[in-house]
Amino acid sequence: MNVLIFGSGQLARMMYLAGCPLGIEVSAVDVNTHKVVNPVNKEPYNIGLEEAIEQADAISVEFEHVPEALLEKAELSGKLMPGIGAILTGADRVREKHLLQRLDIANCPHRVIDNVEQLDGAVDELGDQLIVKASRDGYDGYGQWRLHKSDDLPDLKQQLLALDLRKVPLVVEKMLHFDREVSLVGVRNSKGHFRFYDLAENLHHQGQLHVSLAPAPGVTEALTQQAREIFKTLADELNYTGVLAVEFFQLGDRLLVNEIAPRVHNSGHWTMQSADTCQFENHLRAICDLPLGDTSIKTVCAMVNIIGYASFARDMLTIRGCHLHWYGKTVRDKRKMGHFNLVGQTYPELATSMLALADYVPESHFPHLANKARTLS
Ligand code: ATP
Ligand code: MG
Ligand code: MG
Repeated sequence: MNVLIFGSGQLARMMYLAGCPLGIEVSAVDVNTHKVVNPVNKEPYNIGLEEAIEQADAISVEFEHVPEALLEKAELSGKLMPGIGAILTGADRVREKHLLQRLDIANCPHRVIDNVEQLDGAVDELGDQLIVKASRDGYDGYGQWRLHKSDDLPDLKQQLLALDLRKVPLVVEKMLHFDREVSLVGVRNSKGHFRFYDLAENLHHQGQLHVSLAPAPGVTEALTQQAREIFKTLADELNYTGVLAVEFFQLGDRLLVNEIAPRVHNSGHWTMQSADTCQFENHLRAICDLPLGDTSIKTVCAMVNIIGYASFARDMLTIRGCHLHWYGKTVRDKRKMGHFNLVGQTYPELATSMLALADYVPESHFPHLANKARTLS
């Protein structure tokens, strides 16, 4: 079978690798050049985009910010999964918030503004600790501005004046003091059947995911059910086929949806080592209409992103349960270069490996790793 993925980054690469044993051939589309490439070495294939779309058994995306014209082309083939509606909802925070409101799903108090002066009203309503998010093209915390006190409002307005808010409005959110962040990665097939992975706890630094811990410690049955109900409501409404990720803020025993990602997700990378069937394989299974794989967890896992630097010591691989996934990209500040999956039979065993890994890297790179490990040992 042939699968075509729009986007040619590490997620397409990991789908390619997961497809190999199944005999599924994954090609990627570089969304800037429209070239069809090998997702591992990025070498162009000798095939045009139209032909690749025609030959594909299924088409999907590795990120939501694919130009709409390309998505429409794919949608017209009838093979795009999830469909264009789901992808555009994940790509546009205004559409996303409307969906959450319409389905009565708890989310962060917010306001949509298309004029900088409307920020005053937002402060009156939501307070002066805010996160302002561009409605489109944001990821890893890019396209976000934080307001910590009303004194800083004039400065913030000045910064936002450069944007065309009529084209790309802003979503202004109340800055929440949540207990922690968790995410649910799951898969729905075209018949509406679901499989869910365990909830992961996600640790962010400067708006970017650094560590995911699975299963999230201390999750109650009720919390899991709450997350799954929300996931099902969203996925059914979007008539979703494939892997979907829902990011939550946890406040006590309540979950608020932060955002959804209509694709395989960084907080699901732990499934490569620790789940019976990883998220990449399950995405391929769903969109190729194959039976879904078992999502049960076999070992506890800490996924640790390698961000903005290219060196790792060979010795890191001697750490017990340490698996490296290297993406082969050129190094750039804040760029995700690869990740480690650390696995253990128990949290204390995992904590030992996390502390060993933390010894190799400056605290500034993995600010959470050692602290989190200490809570597990
Ligand atoms: P991603 O790479 O996950 O797509 P993104 O750029 O779309 O990220 P968000 O997920 O909206 O951005 O925000 C990034 C992080 O910033 C969140 O995971 C959370 O840590 C923090 N954050 C976002 N919104 C809020 C909020 N309303 N209150 C407190 N923290 C927030
Ligand atoms: Mg996002
Ligand atoms: Mg996010």
